[in-house]
Amino acid sequence: MFAPSKTIDKELCHRQAHSDRKYQLFGRMSCLATELFFLPPKLAKASYILRARPIIIGEAKLEPRGQSLVRPVVGLFVGIAVVILVMPAIIVGSWKSPAIDPPVPSSDITLQLYVSSSKQLVKIGLEDYVRGVVAAEMPASFHPAALRAQAVAARTYAAKRIRSLGGRGCDAHPQADLCDNPAHCQAWVPVSQLQQKWGMLEYQNYWTKISEAVAMTAREIITYQGIIIDPVFHSTCGGQTEDAGAVWQQSVPYLVPVKCSYCQHSPKLQTEQRYSLTAFVGAMRELDGAITVTAQSLRTTSPNLTIAEKTATGRVSSISIGGRNIKATTLRSALGLNSTRFVHKIEGDQIVFTVQGYGHGVGLCQYGADGMGQAGYDYRAILQYYYQGTQITEIR
Ligand SMILES: [Zn+2]
Ligand SMILES: [Zn+2]
Repeated sequence: MFAPSKTIDKELCHRQAHSDRKYQLFGRMSCLATELFFLPPKLAKASYILRARPIIIGEAKLEPRGQSLVRPVVGLFVGIAVVILVMPAIIVGSWKSPAIDPPVPSSDITLQLYVSSSKQLVKIGLEDYVRGVVAAEMPASFHPAALRAQAVAARTYAAKRIRSLGGRGCDAHPQADLCDNPAHCQAWVPVSQLQQKWGMLEYQNYWTKISEAVAMTAREIITYQGIIIDPVFHSTCGGQTEDAGAVWQQSVPYLVPVKCSYCQHSPKLQTEQRYSLTAFVGAMRELDGAITVTAQSLRTTSPNLTIAEKTATGRVSSISIGGRNIKATTLRSALGLNSTRFVHKIEGDQIVFTVQGYGHGVGLCQYGADGMGQAGYDYRAILQYYYQGTQITEIR
């Protein structure tokens, strides 16, 4: 079903599209200026010509709709008019910028997406869907290589679910291939919400970056021995990723621990999380009714609470409280701990967890991907580091 990746000169195509897009942005702004401020028709025509450059998307070429020669001086005049009339409006926010959608390769693969907010099924192209996932799952400020890695991971996850590709669909919504619930499938955000999410000044820059990351990796997915992988990821591993078997009791050959010194810049590299002993004991008793320790006994006899077992990578596997064992992953979700890589201490009437990293620690470390990108690695190297022994292939 999947063939090894072909060498496609996407870089060249992409650069062409990018330069044209910039031109198009300028042209659209100048056109709008003429419409808003009733500039003479000749200027309006000039702006129309400016926006009428051909746009190359993949192999398709969208032809301009106008054709005429206008002297450069007229174009310059329009440019000056844009700067004088439109830029202040942008700055004070009284003018809403037109939605400029960077091109993304059209895909012959479509999917049915269940959108939670509207409770509706939406038919969407795979590549367009991947843009919304990357926007939702990774900070758009990250290095382009990290965004590309996330795009391939998002597409890989989708390929595992899309029924026309042999996937099993979203079992929470029988008509859908995927839903936008990150706790079930993967997060997705519509473009209409991105301006609010990023702010008007960053919107165009971020959306262009993400669109480029998707276009540059179009159709690419990750496989292990010809099978589409489970591309799990997390925010910050804190020094070393975790074995899938240590978290989910099922070993996966490509989800094995790797050292990671690339996520040191994460704000979640080390955090402190405090709980009152009363709240902590209450939460533990909800997990196991046989726990009899009290907040008072934890204050006076700390051996009542110890780390019972660690994984091979040094994360906590289970704790012992009042002689009862609780899995660290269960503890983590009950308390909302950032990860299971923690140490704890009792301070007065509080328990303090010092936690390394954020997330389950398995697979791709997102901040690590950003750090690897900054260190000069490309998205393939990033993916093949966090998903050991895998290949990047194209959906046929
Ligand atoms: Zn789902
Ligand atoms: Zn890491």
